[in-house]
Amino acid sequence: MPVYTSEALILRTYKLGEADRIVVFLTRDRGKKRGVAKGARRPRSRYSGALEPMTRAGVAYYERELRDLVRLNYVEPVMSPLSAIGHGSASALSHVGYFAELIDEWAPEAHADERLYRLGSAIVDAVAAGAPIDRLARYFEYWLLRLQGVYPSVTACPGCGGPLAAGAMMPPREEMFVCRRCAPSGGGTELSAEAVGFLRASGRTPPEQLQGLVLETRASRELETAHRRLLHAHLDKELKSVRVLREISR
Ligand SMILES: [Zn+2]
Repeated sequence: MPVYTSEALILRTYKLGEADRIVVFLTRDRGKKRGVAKGARRPRSRYSGALEPMTRAGVAYYERELRDLVRLNYVEPVMSPLSAIGHGSASALSHVGYFAELIDEWAPEAHADERLYRLGSAIVDAVAAGAPIDRLARYFEYWLLRLQGVYPSVTACPGCGGPLAAGAMMPPREEMFVCRRCAPSGGGTELSAEAVGFLRASGRTPPEQLQGLVLETRASRELETAHRRLLHAHLDKELKSVRVLREISR
């Protein structure tokens, strides 16, 4: 039985039998895995506090041929955003769940994606450092969709080829940004020049430097709406954590 060790992000867990848990985690080098954590639900389990969503940890696991489930040997937490923010902010806490759920949805099983891992890992550091959660969320959504190759162009209008720097519009039922002149009458999702500016700056900013980005509340709201539409179109469902976020922002 080969043993693998890696850095990983914990995405979620669910119960297995009487005392165990199945842990879904994204490894840096071998993609997403599902592993059995024996005894994880017992009091004083060696996994206690190590399996919260978006915990970055060193893991070791055994992989058996022709089995989907691996067996976890240990999970050693290195950075836990939940313990870093404590019970401070309900919004930050639920965003951590949102980031984990999005990575879980997009990461294919056992397909290495180092860029996705770096993105998730940098977000963990930024949350723990207390960076504004809205900005992190918009940056994360932008890059998650971009890494999948489904983020629309933020430089040129697909209608006329003109620039989008002065602001853009996502027409109803079309997942693209067009310039104001090509925008259909009758609404859509507006992006101000500030929102477009944030997207372009995000494109040039590696995850380790995202804390230098600036995003105003209004532009964040615009991007939130546009990104919800993009995610909904590509995932074809609403995430559980999005419902929680909506409840909180009411
Ligand atoms: Zn145009």
